[in-house]
Amino acid sequence: MTVTALFLGTDADWAKFSLALLSECTALPFDVALPRDTACTTADYIVMAGSRIIDDFTPYTRCKALLRLWAGVEDIVDNPTITFPICRMVGGGLDAGMVEWVTAHVLRHHVGMDVHLHGQDGVWRDTVTPPLAADRPITVLGLGALGAACGKALAGLGFPVTGWSRSPKNIEGIHCVQGDVTRALDGAQIVVTLLPRTAGTENILNTRTLGHLAKGAVVLNPGRGELINDDALLDALASGHISHATLDTFRQEPLPADHVFWGHPQITVTPHIASATRAEPAAKVIAENIARGEAGKPFLHQVDRTSGY
Ligand code: NAP
Repeated sequence: MTVTALFLGTDADWAKFSLALLSECTALPFDVALPRDTACTTADYIVMAGSRIIDDFTPYTRCKALLRLWAGVEDIVDNPTITFPICRMVGGGLDAGMVEWVTAHVLRHHVGMDVHLHGQDGVWRDTVTPPLAADRPITVLGLGALGAACGKALAGLGFPVTGWSRSPKNIEGIHCVQGDVTRALDGAQIVVTLLPRTAGTENILNTRTLGHLAKGAVVLNPGRGELINDDALLDALASGHISHATLDTFRQEPLPADHVFWGHPQITVTPHIASATRAEPAAKVIAENIARGEAGKPFLHQVDRTSGY
């Protein structure tokens, strides 16, 4: 038996993922063909990288699931022509990469690294002793695969971590709250946004909610650009209420070269690199889901189309 999994992605996506996908699929108890031709409307699965290549999925009548190689699904979740399950990437190196990015940027601000990185001018700057982690409250917005992993890593370093989610959670080391987001933000010195973009999360950081952070707080946004009201952030930076924002995601990507965020002295721009899907572990997740589909078992990481993530 041959199962057909249509690969949707750019040449670069194909170069990155094809070998690992084919290699993982050889371990399955059936053959898997991985064509790239969108005319292959008899595909049993669609394996999709980030780039949207087709809008109309109506012809793919045999498809059992769309298996995304990326964590986010904002661009496809509302597509009415996708009548089969959508599964997003969880694992695939995304959690480990995000923990490393978030921890690195938290520690940069926590220990005041910039003072010494930019101060190589013969001046002995030894007067400021940063607080210990235990005295630096951090809030993580979103306690899903990535938020929970980052929150646990930060708690492991000794930071008091508050996490916010829609549903109740019980995660060791994290004070988990739901409801009004200001309950999670009150007094936080660093906030990390790891929410999907939905109607309920857009502009979640705005003038009112940013006002609940401690004076001089730092914002890290590896989630989605739309989570922050950009004007509110710029105002809060200008007033000093927020001291710095490290932004990895933006309303428009790539961030236009003339955007005010570039070169802003209180903003660090990183180009949506906080965490990338790694080919080998991601291929294992895709192969597992194809095996499940063929065995009639529930898919892993199926998106809830009504909540949008
Ligand atoms: P996830 O597992 O779906 O988790 C999302 C979390 O957000 C969940 O805890 C969810 O609450 C919470 N949430 C959603 N809507 C909410 C609302 N209205 N109020 C309160 N909490 C809400 O997603 P993930 O895998 O952790 O990924 C998080 C985000 O990271 C992605 O959506 C993507 O935007 C971003 N990301 C960025 C990069 C990068 O390189 N920059 C890479 C990968 C992912 P429940 O648990 O109660 O459902």
